[in-house]
Amino acid sequence: MLVALYYAVGLWGFVFTPDAHGIPLVWPATGVGLAFVYLYGYRLIPAVGFASALVAWQFTGDMVPLLETLGTVTATMAGVALGAYALHRLGFSPRLERLRDVGLLLSVGALTGSGLAATAGAWGIAVGMDELSFTDTWWLCWMADLMGLALVAPVLMTWLGAPLARPTDRAYLKGFLLIASLISVTAVVYSGFLPAGVAMPLSYAAFPLVMLAALRCPVQVTTTLMLAGGGIALSGTGWGLGPFAELGLDTSLLSLNAQLALLVLTGLVLTALRGEREAAETRARRHLDQLARAGRLSTLGELSAGLAHELNQPLCALASYAQASKRLLERGRMDELGEALSQLDAGAHRAAETVRQMRAFAAGQAPERRTIRPDALVRPVLDLLRPEFRSRHLRLELKVEPHLPAVTVAPVQIEQVLVNLLRNAIEALEGRRDGRVELGLQREADHLQLHIRDNGPGIPPYRLAGLFDPFSTWKENGLGLGLSISRSLVEAHGGCLTVSNMPEGGAEFRFTLPLEHSDARP
Ligand code: ADP
Repeated sequence: MLVALYYAVGLWGFVFTPDAHGIPLVWPATGVGLAFVYLYGYRLIPAVGFASALVAWQFTGDMVPLLETLGTVTATMAGVALGAYALHRLGFSPRLERLRDVGLLLSVGALTGSGLAATAGAWGIAVGMDELSFTDTWWLCWMADLMGLALVAPVLMTWLGAPLARPTDRAYLKGFLLIASLISVTAVVYSGFLPAGVAMPLSYAAFPLVMLAALRCPVQVTTTLMLAGGGIALSGTGWGLGPFAELGLDTSLLSLNAQLALLVLTGLVLTALRGEREAAETRARRHLDQLARAGRLSTLGELSAGLAHELNQPLCALASYAQASKRLLERGRMDELGEALSQLDAGAHRAAETVRQMRAFAAGQAPERRTIRPDALVRPVLDLLRPEFRSRHLRLELKVEPHLPAVTVAPVQIEQVLVNLLRNAIEALEGRRDGRVELGLQREADHLQLHIRDNGPGIPPYRLAGLFDPFSTWKENGLGLGLSISRSLVEAHGGCLTVSNMPEGGAEFRFTLPLEHSDARP
């Protein structure tokens, strides 16, 4: 594959982009060599040597002497090997998702791959053709190598080195449409049918298309787009067609090269910036998960007294059923023994269920989203907090609108929001006799709305503004993280969390969750 591709792009360079002396002004072969050796290892270096010897023998055999040709081949192999080595050593990633990777590919390519290949090429050509100076030829060869590398290496690196990350059908479709549009526009611009005054500005149509791909499509689409656009533009110009052709072959290709270099830079830099932003978002999500987990553990610690009490009851019951069973067995009353053992069994299950709830809440399983009925969403929270309500003699009123559609959420995260808000309400009712908390669920247009209302002191107006800021707490041993974590969790679900004071006293926290299939009825 390497030899065939190397030969094909070499042939293309000689046929489409030769200057007056036959030196190709775009030389993607070095980029092919560098990408293959980087991706598949140094054992491909002899293949690069073979391919470059084949190309030299085919296209420059009659003008460059054998010794110089051998020098060219050796320098090409050395450049590619050194380039691949440098990329490995410097921690390059072929996904091109960081600015660093784009910078590394271009600078390592410019210094080693293109630099050495250009030196060798220029030397061979300058020796072969007396009228050319080494410096001028070197400069041309270097630019040709770097331009070719910038067009072809990103495509090979991203398609072969970074398999598509689970592309959705829409991403494919968008990519296909973009590639088709770019090919059509570029083909029209470089067909030679349009007057230069129209074709020149139209040649910039490639920029918005590449930018759109960089921001919206998998990186492979962007790199392919740039190669397709660049390939057509260069081939057209090489044939003397299109807006740049008027300038004469050498100048036209160099001028087009400059435009393409900017296009490639735009595409690669935007892709990298998007990749970096996405990576930062992923990191932020992970931090939120960790923070949420820490919050859960601390809540569980605070709930432990109530839970221990909750666990104690079934355990005491178990002990007495066990004693009763023993007595029944001693007296030989087998008929009643069956009943006592069933009670024992049921009690053990109840205790196990409490422990399971605690563990599920603490472990917080993976925050995977699933579609769940709203009443099933709140039930575990109520089970967890019931002892707390009971021991403080608080009333909990549940108001659930009938026929609520299911929501798609990460249940463990919404449970955490509910626990935080309900516990705040419980704490606000500390020491009150007629304490009452209302948990309501109703549908509001395309949202599910949940509210937690208490008849406590409410929130002083001057505290309302910064209430959701981290570490804003007015409790002696509070952390002030509950509300800030809760708001982040709700917003991560596309909802919002707000607070207000009730006219009759007490605070009300409301949050929404989008109903994705708002027509769905249970
Ligand atoms: P913490 O509970 O650790 O203090 P939160 O972020 O959960 O942290 O709460 C921040 C502050 O908001 C609390 O210290 C409390 O003063 C106030 N607050 C929260 N909910 C209520 C409520 N239902 N009634 C009155 N004040 C509340």
